[in-house]
Amino acid sequence: MADFTGKRGLVLGVANRRSIAWAIAQKLAAGGATLAFTYQGERIEKSVRELAESVSSPLLTECDVRSDEGVERVFSEVGDAFGGELDLLVHSVAFADARDLEGRFTDTPRDRFWLALDVSAYSLVSAARAAEPLMEAAGGGSILTMTYLGGERAVPHYNVMGVAKAALDASMRYLAWDLGRKNIRVNAVSAGPVRTLAARSIAGFPTMEAIVEERAPLRRVMRFIPKSPRCKLCNVPFAGPDRVFRLAGFGQSRKNPNMCTACFERAPVGGAEIEVGVLFGDVRGYTALVESASPEEAATLLAPFYRAARDALMRKDGSSTSSWETR
Ligand code: NAD
Repeated sequence: MADFTGKRGLVLGVANRRSIAWAIAQKLAAGGATLAFTYQGERIEKSVRELAESVSSPLLTECDVRSDEGVERVFSEVGDAFGGELDLLVHSVAFADARDLEGRFTDTPRDRFWLALDVSAYSLVSAARAAEPLMEAAGGGSILTMTYLGGERAVPHYNVMGVAKAALDASMRYLAWDLGRKNIRVNAVSAGPVRTLAARSIAGFPTMEAIVEERAPLRRVMRFIPKSPRCKLCNVPFAGPDRVFRLAGFGQSRKNPNMCTACFERAPVGGAEIEVGVLFGDVRGYTALVESASPEEAATLLAPFYRAARDALMRKDGSSTSSWETR
């Protein structure tokens, strides 16, 4: 385990136990660091307070990174708590309107574009600027932010957040250039998909997880999650430890078991153009059969055909109808 004995750090971006910032904070605390935390809004104060207290944090304070005054106040409190010095800054903050994390990037309106860049990219600049004198006083420091591949390549649904991450990545490099002469390092970690509060807003997030699961060099991501059956559209698994997916609205749809509820509900209302498979069943002699057999006997004979037909159609993305279900 890395040794952080005597290091003083500020962690921005803990919302709950699932937050990446909390995972980082736990490692730092276990290595001996003393940590201050911020939280955004009263709604999450209680949960962040419990977490901060569990690592004996000397400071928990509110911070909305959109406010310059708010950021300056936080660093002034941090200076007071840590004797005017700071060694570590974890910046694990991002936000985009959920409406901009699905559909087309092209349709992102101006105000929500700037909102995403303000919270997710500019906040690193303002926090680094406020941290600079405290880290200089400490003889140097380390600033860490969280980025994602969607800033380098177009990742479906990541949209404006990808643009924000590109701005964040470039900001990180320019900050590293500026602050390096003061022995302050600035780096970004590009995380794979992790199921956190922020990730829940990204449409198709399970697809990202499934792709990483297949391609991650160590193949450790999602290794406990079975491969099939999965949603045909977003690839979320239905079997195994799927409670978290069900809670997030990605459980297997009862109306179409080939899809998760989220994909089924998102399907266009009023119909869509789809490929249709037609199954032709040859039931020659059916009239003679029903004339000589009771309705129950006829139904029993035909039931395997209906079952086979339904299964064949379902494999081609058909929906189950009540008339098939009752036979
Ligand atoms: P999270 O929801 O736990 O953390 C996001 C944090 O941002 C929250 O604590 C939230 O309160 C904070 N925040 C949002 N708007 C804010 C504002 N105006 N002022 C102050 N704080 C604000 O989710 P997370 O996944 O742990 O996200 C942390 C970082 O990791 C983000 O930068 C995210 O883009 C990045 N990341 C996440 C993943 C993933 O799959 N979860 C992958 C790569 C990178």
